[in-house]
Order: sequence, then structure tokens, then C-alpha cells
Amino acid sequence: MNETDRELLLSEFNARINEAVKFSYPVRDGELQLKVANSLAQYLETLGSKLETVREGADPELSNFVLGLFNYMTSAIRLLHMWLAIRSDDPGEGWNALIDAQAFARKAMRAHDVLLNQLEEFNSYLLHLEETLFPPQQFVSMSFTVKKSKCSICNDAFHKCNHIAGRPYNGQFCTQVVTNAGPVEHTALVDHPYDKGCRLTSYSKDGFDVDTMTLVKTPSEDGDTSSGRFKAIGMRSGI
Ligand SMILES: [Zn+2]
Repeated sequence: MNETDRELLLSEFNARINEAVKFSYPVRDGELQLKVANSLAQYLETLGSKLETVREGADPELSNFVLGLFNYMTSAIRLLHMWLAIRSDDPGEGWNALIDAQAFARKAMRAHDVLLNQLEEFNSYLLHLEETLFPPQQFVSMSFTVKKSKCSICNDAFHKCNHIAGRPYNGQFCTQVVTNAGPVEHTALVDHPYDKGCRLTSYSKDGFDVDTMTLVKTPSEDGDTSSGRFKAIGMRSGI
């Protein structure tokens, strides 16, 4: 990819991001928001193919830059999904979409220095949305022993190679792939979880389950009338 191709890629990318930002308001029309989200998802597929192509070249800096754009676009799409979920009276899914948007924005910032600076404001905006749109959540964390894991870049046993988890290598993030894990040892309530998608979703009170987002009460499914029981999302698929 030469300099002109790179500029063309960037100008198209920026036009798409601006479109996403333009529709990131609750008063925008829902059908238009959905249309934009779907169109950006198609563009994301194009970006994914581009990433595969540049990874075959000998320019790791360029690969990491396109990796960053891919994650930035995924973040913007999940942000639109958040507005759509809230509009559909599904705040739990809205929360998941926002937490994903935050995680993908952080990945974009880790992918390339240019994006580290460019996304600072966007990242603050996503944190601001968390505080203003949703009530405070109680997070949970599950603890288990990793018996065996490998590096996603070189497939060597994790900790034996020089790759560092979370860092980009020629358009790919290094992750610890767990191949053998022990059973869950305990679940704890925490303030700073690895994944904010892991949270209490309801608590029981006087024979009802109370949704932590909406405060809607539904009769406890098993007829248990005791208070103080909780339901939680303990683990989500990795992003
Ligand atoms: Zn490695």
C-alpha cells in the first residue's frame, strides 16, 4: 500500500466514522440508525479483508494501523447498537454494547500511536455515557486456575516466548489462549473487573426478582420467597 492508498483508506474511514458519530444521539431516527449500523458493518468486512491483505506484506506498522482502524470502527458500530438497544427497551444489551465499544476503543488505542492520541476524546465520551445513561452496577469476577495456555502469535507455551499479551504484532494482538483451566474456585464482588459486562443482573426481594437496570419486579421462577439471592453474568466470550 503506497502513501496515496493510505490517504484514500483514511479519508474513507474518517467519512464513515463521522457518519457513526452523527447518529450517536438518542433523538436520531431509529430506522436510520439501524441502516447506518448495518452499512458500517458491511464496511467493517471490507476493512477486515484489507487487514488480511496488509498482514501478508512486510510492513508491521501499516498492519497495526489497519488493525487499529478495524477496532475503532467496531467500537463505533457497538455504540450505535447501544442506542438501538436502549430504544428497544433492552438496557442490559445496551450496557453490553457500550462496554464492548469501550473495549474496542481501548484496543484501537493500543494498536497504533496515532490512534492512541486520536481516540482519547472518544474514549472519554464512552466513559461519560456509562455514567450518565446507566445506574451504577455491581461487578462480579470469577476465579479459576489456568493449567495450560499458549501464545496466540507463535503458539508456544504462554510466558515462554517474548510476545506480550495485549500488544499488536503485525496486525494481530497477542492473547493468552487458555487450553486447560480448572473449575471456578470462587466468585467475588469487585469494583474494577476485567470485563464490566460481568455484573449482577437481578436480586431477590420478597418473592420477586428485581432487575438491577430497570427495577422491574418479576415473581421468582422457583417460588423461593427468601431475599438476598442474586443472579449475575459471570463470564462473557472474549473480545
Ligand atoms: Zn509468542
